[in-house]
Amino acid sequence: MLLKFLTLAAVIAIAWYGFKLVGRIGQQHKQKLTRDEKAARDGVADTVQCPVCDAYIAEDIKSNCGKADCPY
Ligand SMILES: [Zn+2]
Repeated sequence: MLLKFLTLAAVIAIAWYGFKLVGRIGQQHKQKLTRDEKAARDGVADTVQCPVCDAYIAEDIKSNCGKADCPY
């Protein structure tokens, strides 16, 4: 009977901590998604297509794509 009670208590404790952990991860994931969405929204307006390599580059970064005649 005592062992049964201890097992039950352990299961409840694991479930409790599991829920807390999942909730924390879910919250972080949601925050990350919100950040990514914002970045994607911000990026869409400021993206330019490189005429040489057809790659889309964020206008405020303008990183060279590696081609010799890349204007960025
Ligand atoms: Zn390029």
